[in-house]
Amino acid sequence: MRTMNATQRPPAAPHAAHAAPAGTPLRTATRQRMGLQRLRALPQPAERAMHAQHDAELEQMLPVLGPLFGLGMVLFAVWDMLLDPHLARYTLALRALAVLIGSAAYFPNALCWSVERRCGHIYVSHVCALILCEFLLPQGLVYGLAGVAACNFAAALCTLRLPAFARMLAAPTVLFVALSAWRLPWLQCVSGLMQYAFAVALAAVVLLVMRVFQQKSFLLEQQLLHLSQHDSLTGACNRRYLEEVAERELALAQRHGRKLAVAMLDIDHFKQVNDQYGHETGDRVLQALVRTCHGQLREIDHFGRLGGEEFVCVLPETDCDEALRCAERLRHSLSLLTIATPLGMLHFTVSVGVAVYGPGHANWPALLHDADLALYRAKHDGRNRVALAGAR
Ligand code: GH3
Ligand code: MG
Ligand code: MG
Repeated sequence: MRTMNATQRPPAAPHAAHAAPAGTPLRTATRQRMGLQRLRALPQPAERAMHAQHDAELEQMLPVLGPLFGLGMVLFAVWDMLLDPHLARYTLALRALAVLIGSAAYFPNALCWSVERRCGHIYVSHVCALILCEFLLPQGLVYGLAGVAACNFAAALCTLRLPAFARMLAAPTVLFVALSAWRLPWLQCVSGLMQYAFAVALAAVVLLVMRVFQQKSFLLEQQLLHLSQHDSLTGACNRRYLEEVAERELALAQRHGRKLAVAMLDIDHFKQVNDQYGHETGDRVLQALVRTCHGQLREIDHFGRLGGEEFVCVLPETDCDEALRCAERLRHSLSLLTIATPLGMLHFTVSVGVAVYGPGHANWPALLHDADLALYRAKHDGRNRVALAGAR
């Protein structure tokens, strides 16, 4: 079954009909615990999705943040003037040149690089220029240490990933260590390097803390998205989300001439189930049905609750024969389900209406309408069966 991403997928449910229903306080508590575990190590797809989201945000901010960083680097020339007005002319030229070289990465169209590489290019060019300027000025490496150290925090907040942070810092750090060792007396050099190392460590801690916040908000966002797209009782897609994905699949079928089928399921005599066994057992039947259907369908299929005891499978890349086979498989598996109740074992059946996308289906409601007509015929012909739209 297709869902938005791996973090939203409900855990694979056993097909036993008496498994704990979704949404109980026990399961919620377990999920919360799992959420905390995920803070330490998100699953690979979720981690990738989170990084992609961060990169997309960074991509949007870079045209503003990049020039601001560059402007800061040039304006720091005022500080050079205080140290040595004569040399400040040269350092200003050096700063401007570095900003010019780095500025190619401010905007996405100038270089076909990833956003991480573009950030790295800006950071390395600008900060290396800053270190060189300090080196050129008398006592610049001592007085400018705070400025270089502060830049580490910009790198940490920009990447939010330790390996990328380390890659970004490598060249400026080597340059700073080499020039400090060359220019400064050993005591000042050791002191400066210790302060620099402390600033890097502090920036790494800030990075890790921000990453925890990032993971928390990412998981929360995914959870909210899942809640807004899924039915709280059964975990199937809700009607609104199902319509959204169905419209998308239909548009793909129309545009690329792809196959698409729909199967509409309705539980037979469900009112009697509620009347005889109680509403709670009725709810468990709905949950068991969804678990079974999720287990039977492919990753690319979509399964949603239309309302009450009516469900819809959207089956992309599926022709008439395949759709009928799939519907029959679902009907058969559901008829074999057994639900344990205080009044004894409960069996139930479903009727299924199948419709296959064709030229007459201008939109999703038209295709669903045909599946509904087929379902009506399956009911009329005696229930617990599959009927195909248009077939007699
Ligand atoms: P048919 O074979 O013609 O489909 O008959 P039916 O009894 O299944 O259909 P009907 O439309 O008469 O009844 C549907 C029932 O589904 C009535 C309603 O109480 C029940 N129902 C709808 N939503 C829920 C739900 O969320 N939980 C439970 N337990 N029952 C529900
Ligand atoms: Mg029914
Ligand atoms: Mg119904």
